Amino acid sequence: MSTVLSKTASIGIIGAGTMGAGIVAVALRAGHAVYLHDTRQQALTQGAESVTASLDRWVKRGHLTARQRDECLARLTLAAELSELSACALVVEAIIENLEIKQQLFSALEAVVGEHTILASNTSSISITAIAATLQRPQRMVGMHFFNPATVLPLVEVVKGEATCATVVAQVSELATLWGKCPVECKSTPGFIVNRVARPFYGEALLGLEDQVAPVAVIDAALRDAGGFRMGPLELMDLIGHDTNFAVTRSIYDAFFQDPRYRPSLTQKALVDAGWLGRKTGRGFYRYDPGSTPDGITYEAACPQPTLVQQFGDFPGAQ
Ligand code: NAD
Repeated sequence: MSTVLSKTASIGIIGAGTMGAGIVAVALRAGHAVYLHDTRQQALTQGAESVTASLDRWVKRGHLTARQRDECLARLTLAAELSELSACALVVEAIIENLEIKQQLFSALEAVVGEHTILASNTSSISITAIAATLQRPQRMVGMHFFNPATVLPLVEVVKGEATCATVVAQVSELATLWGKCPVECKSTPGFIVNRVARPFYGEALLGLEDQVAPVAVIDAALRDAGGFRMGPLELMDLIGHDTNFAVTRSIYDAFFQDPRYRPSLTQKALVDAGWLGRKTGRGFYRYDPGSTPDGITYEAACPQPTLVQQFGDFPGAQ
């Protein structure tokens, strides 16, 4: 492995959704040429809008000049075909949380990139060892797990699978530091560090809701305003996306051999079944203004206060 992930390296990002768009903005701001690929044209268009909104916020706050924002956008290529990522030194995947689909994507990717290209997954919970298992060169596969919103939160878990080369881990950690992030190296075990520890935060809030301990907004306010968390657990699940959060919980539950501590919630499954995925669809536990793109720091300023869908009982699965 001789790739050096310098500022001049081209970076590929696959998946233009919640996470992919944020990672693109971070990489552009650090000076890279970025190739963003998604199978859906609409996702590419929306992803580019989200990247522009993030860069605009940085201009507003004085972190970038208008000229630097324009230079960033000029370095962004929307790639309809995977083959356009062929010259990238690092590709970060941020697609649906599903092992088979990620494996298929990385196999296809391995056929188009160079042999020294580092392949990274932003997976929240899936084994990096398992994703790498179908690769010809599994030593180049690593977890690069950003947190939502990626433009704001500094933590990046750099996850080492059984086959991952130590040099790859070191290079990705160095790059994350260059990007202004705080990398933490860890081993590929279910949920890594944060998503393992965070499961009860979500799970107990959902169980409490089902037990009618308090309404949605009260549970959130108790944890946020009195508990000192940045967001309450239910509004945080709305931000993450219930499809993603539910898939991550299922993945960790299965990976721990159905340990009841990580049991997925039927209430959350019902939200997913209804398509009430949270902010990205305009409705989850709360309703959202479709035009708002809050980034977590100016949450109150950037976004009208969410309207509570209901106190309890108006969403699918409620008793
Ligand atoms: P998302 O649903 O917002 O976006 C996923 C995007 O991937 C969509 O635009 C979709 O069209 C695209 N896609 C799906 N299959 C594809 C394929 N085969 N090739 C190319 N594009 C494809 O998802 P997200 O919330 O951004 O999550 C992406 C990944 O990041 C998941 O692995 C998730 O676990 C992880 N993650 C999510 C969060 C979060 O808070 N949402 C935080 C950290 C990590």
